[in-house]
Amino acid sequence: MFNFASNDYLGLATHPAVMQAACDTIAKQGLGSGASRLISGDAPLIHQLERELADWKGFEDCLLLGSGMLANIGLLQALADRHTQIFADKLNHASLVDGVRLSGARCQRFAHLDMHQLEALLQKHPAERRIIVSDGVFSMDGDTADMSRLIDLAETSDALLIIDDAHGTGTVGPEGRGLTALGGIAGNPRLIEVGTLGKAFGSYGAFILGSAEMIEGLRQRMRTLIYSTALPPALPAAALAALNLIKQGDLVQQLHGNLGLFRKLTSKLSLMPSDSPIQPLPVGEDEQAMAMAGQLKQLGFFVPAIRPPTVPEGTARLRITLSAAHSRQEITQLAQALESFV
Ligand SMILES: *Cc1c(COP(=O)(O)O)cnc(C)c1O
Repeated sequence: MFNFASNDYLGLATHPAVMQAACDTIAKQGLGSGASRLISGDAPLIHQLERELADWKGFEDCLLLGSGMLANIGLLQALADRHTQIFADKLNHASLVDGVRLSGARCQRFAHLDMHQLEALLQKHPAERRIIVSDGVFSMDGDTADMSRLIDLAETSDALLIIDDAHGTGTVGPEGRGLTALGGIAGNPRLIEVGTLGKAFGSYGAFILGSAEMIEGLRQRMRTLIYSTALPPALPAAALAALNLIKQGDLVQQLHGNLGLFRKLTSKLSLMPSDSPIQPLPVGEDEQAMAMAGQLKQLGFFVPAIRPPTVPEGTARLRITLSAAHSRQEITQLAQALESFV
């Protein structure tokens, strides 16, 4: 089957250099890290990756976590409590939703990407500490939050801004550095960015970027860091190899070439507007989406049907994801198969 369902946007999960880095590290250091980072699991490779990610992304410091789910839950628990007021996009990823819930903070949700509503909510809800929380590239829609508007609103209302750019990292912006680099807000002291290694990096794990002071505070306080076993060192080793490849630029360019080709070949379809590798085709009813995914499967294409509760009722869709590793032929054949539905 041709895989149009994965978040391995650059094909790095099966890149020889990435796999080799992981294998070499296992051969030298073993598999498991053996303990949490605060006990004995703090491998030098973790620190090297944190330094390189911070420099690449344009932030003072970086903290590596076990996964994106752990990063978001731990981050919100560390920063927010019942005296905190959160402002969250309605389509935020489940890990941000759960992080907010577990923190006990009060939460106002604004309609997807609606900056006017966010501004009005900020005016109406004062608090000791306020945090705006949004995905960067949205995982089921492929559209993007407005970075400069969000940071302006954070600044004028003295709030922190958390951007989870799990899908933008390695795929959009200059050298694939993501939306905060594209919007010119990376390194802003009000901004905390979350990213993962499980998507374009082709590995596993997650990272949080911010000011040196913020990251040091999180290092002391995040329960999902302190009370969870450190990543096996093979994974940061693989991520360092992946970062090297991403910096060379060819893969990101290849991905965008593939995206351009796919958009051109599907111009007759009403794909959702997206400049990211997530290219959803709206369907509506769950059954129809399932039937279309089934037909594509028969033709040899793995394209998942996404249904509620992952997306709102009545908005079932095919979630097509593109990769630098797809060939022109695979993309052309998928476009033909999709055209046959209209
Ligand atoms: C995938 C994803 C996560 C979770 O990351 P994992 O490393 O898979 O736990 C968090 N936030 C967003 C926006 C995601 O797309």
